[in-house]
Amino acid sequence: MTAGCAPVIAAAKRARIMDAMGDRGRAGVGTLLAVGALVGLLLAGNWLATAGRGLLETGPLRGLFHSEILRRGFTGWIAGDTMPPAGADAQGTRILPPVAAPSGPHAFLQKDGGRPVTYSPCRRLSVVVNPEGAPFGAVRTVRDAVARISTATGLSLEVSGTTDENYREKRKAYQPNRYGERWAPILVAWAGSGRVPEFDHGAVGFGGSVAIDPAVGASSYVTGAVVLDRDWFADPANQPYLTEVLLHELGHVVGLDHVTDDEQIMWEGGLHGADLGPGDLAGLARLGKGPCTPDL
Ligand SMILES: [Zn+2]
Repeated sequence: MTAGCAPVIAAAKRARIMDAMGDRGRAGVGTLLAVGALVGLLLAGNWLATAGRGLLETGPLRGLFHSEILRRGFTGWIAGDTMPPAGADAQGTRILPPVAAPSGPHAFLQKDGGRPVTYSPCRRLSVVVNPEGAPFGAVRTVRDAVARISTATGLSLEVSGTTDENYREKRKAYQPNRYGERWAPILVAWAGSGRVPEFDHGAVGFGGSVAIDPAVGASSYVTGAVVLDRDWFADPANQPYLTEVLLHELGHVVGLDHVTDDEQIMWEGGLHGADLGPGDLAGLARLGKGPCTPDL
């Protein structure tokens, strides 16, 4: 990045944070963007931090709780006006080759100008795991699930290690003291209902990412999180579901929404013993073909 690019980068950093939630994102992205622009002006350069957390999950043994949480929204994730230096963890071209995929039903959480909002295929995307409260062997399971999502998307996604960061509703997307001058890695953590009250009402996990809509260039996800119900997963009877839940939540993290086809892991009905289906693979492959976003 040359010094001459600095004014453009400064403009791009006055960014808006897009809503990353399923139903609300589908129905109201246009409205949210308009509101974001207005509030952005009022804040004179501060970012509008809207929702960052993704989706509520329910399993067949849990109560239904979807729509209320999906529509409620919350503020958080990015507060203040700091961002990492542009292009951290990025290179000039995509890191892994694009993926060819079959066709099948899939949906995207957010769109921007007719294309899905994606992570940059030019960035090395780290995932960190907080093993506190996790079932034995869970870090390995996360590592395998992340590798499968990387293979299916062609995004450079990899578990880089463990962390002691706990999931928070208002997680900061830039934590230089903990992770250095780059976007915070994608977090996978376990939590109880004290931290995530929805776990008392049918959820077993959430997954989602936060997108930035820069003044110049394409919107892009910059970081995300998966949080899983530590008490539910503490029951050995539920632990076989961990891979399915992780693949589903990581699907949300990279931008997949639910579908009505129960042969896909993104089926809206929750846990059902599925693996990645042709529609999931088609959607994931497309999510790996987004633009590089060097200004972020
Ligand atoms: Zn879901």
